[in-house]
Amino acid sequence: MFTCMTSSPEETGHLAELVGQKIREGTVLCLEGDLGAGKTLFVQSLARTLGVEGDVTSPTFNLMNVYEGICRIYHFDLYRLETEEELDDIGFYEYTEEPEGIVVIEWPDKFPESLPDDYIEVRIRKLGEDSDERQIDFSSIGEKNQEFIKELEDFVHTGH
Ligand code: ADP
Ligand code: MG
Repeated sequence: MFTCMTSSPEETGHLAELVGQKIREGTVLCLEGDLGAGKTLFVQSLARTLGVEGDVTSPTFNLMNVYEGICRIYHFDLYRLETEEELDDIGFYEYTEEPEGIVVIEWPDKFPESLPDDYIEVRIRKLGEDSDERQIDFSSIGEKNQEFIKELEDFVHTGH
């Protein structure tokens, strides 16, 4: 696990850009954090870095967006989902069990039992009600991304 602190949307955007430079196809990234933490902002910057040119918006109503960049990006938002069956209905497991491209999931903590064995968890915490300060924790769940998370830590903290 490693932690980054940011003090503005731009800084969080920059952090997501660094993640976008390193992330590999076949990775699932779960973004935890309250409303307004910065999950969607993070995905927007990640998607831009991966060459996505169109709109990147929270798929709160349609549940999943697909973007075309240098690879395909599947963007889920589970906020409005109520039952696990609905996950099945939207084909969630087909995207997460053997992921192609990059899969990002907002509100993964709504369905902890339904998450894949391997993923990168990004937890964004707002430090204070009206604060722009964020604590962002990166961890690897499962074996697959252990090495990657160490590489990412070096890259984020030292720039190489
Ligand atoms: P979420 O998807 O987690 O609900 P959004 O990304 O939609 O949140 O919104 C985050 C909001 O918080 C944006 O309006 C953004 O400008 C603001 N913000 C302020 N400081 C930060 C920061 N350090 N990192 C990310 N967002 C920030
Ligand atoms: Mg959002």
